[in-house]
Amino acid sequence: MVTMSDQVTTIEPMSLAQIAQEHGDGFSEREVVFEVKDLAVEYSGNAAIREVSLDVYKNSVTAFIGPSGCGKSTFIRCFNRMNDLVPGARVHGDVLYRGKDLYAADVDPVEVRRRIGMVFQKPNPFPKSIYDNIAFGPRVLNLKGSLDERVERALRQAALWDEVSNRLKESALGLSGGQQQRLCIARCLAVEPDVILMDEPASALDPISTTRIEDLMHELKRQYTIVIVTHNMQQAARVADMTAFFSVDVAPDGNKRTGILVEYDRTSKIFTTPADKRTEDYVTGRFG
Ligand code: ADP
Repeated sequence: MVTMSDQVTTIEPMSLAQIAQEHGDGFSEREVVFEVKDLAVEYSGNAAIREVSLDVYKNSVTAFIGPSGCGKSTFIRCFNRMNDLVPGARVHGDVLYRGKDLYAADVDPVEVRRRIGMVFQKPNPFPKSIYDNIAFGPRVLNLKGSLDERVERALRQAALWDEVSNRLKESALGLSGGQQQRLCIARCLAVEPDVILMDEPASALDPISTTRIEDLMHELKRQYTIVIVTHNMQQAARVADMTAFFSVDVAPDGNKRTGILVEYDRTSKIFTTPADKRTEDYVTGRFG
């Protein structure tokens, strides 16, 4: 007779390869949104990442994975010029956004950050009402059309409307962590971005809230292009079409540590048959 405990013990945890294969949707590289060429970032003269080149594709989720300190956050900040705001940071190389140099002198970084929105690890709602959080960007930018409709649309897109529609005037700080993160995503969406950057968007959340954010990414990529940093490989396997594995290159004298891109490919390839031994060691848990 098969008992309940026998059944439980026979369920094997899914491997990353299985997860990646199950979630792979036959992604094919489509239109390129970002073309990164030979990018390097330094902080006060110390290189944090170097020689990074990759393309990000439209209507896809691209994940950056790798051990702590390999430059994932530094790299994602290059996609909307957030490093401009970091004292001592300098960016070298090219980031082309839809064929145009994102760092050209005539490009307005504020406009860049409207089109290329960002969500951070820790949800950061303004100490204002739920409504005013979402309405903030459209008001500042003087966007045309009904503000009420815009707020509702953004909250619906972020799968939050049903939970907050009867308390829009209440403080956003009263929402749960998971709801606050969806609010921040809605705040991004309200100004009609093209791309959403997410730096560890679920790492401060409980498993149910994490699942909701992951489901949301699947939904949002139909309309937007999404780039995420995650230290959670299962998450990358579940949500990403393309995955870039970064590592830390240590100089022979052991003093200089610089982030490098080791391998970039379809997520299913990265987690099943990576080309580089370092990627294989990392995704199989032999390193990091
Ligand atoms: P990851 O996101 O992979 O953990 P980071 O991009 O945060 O990596 O960091 C990469 C390297 O850059 C680390 O050595 C880190 O100390 C350094 N670094 C990151 N942000 C700053 C900063 N604002 N000022 C100086 N050094 C920084």
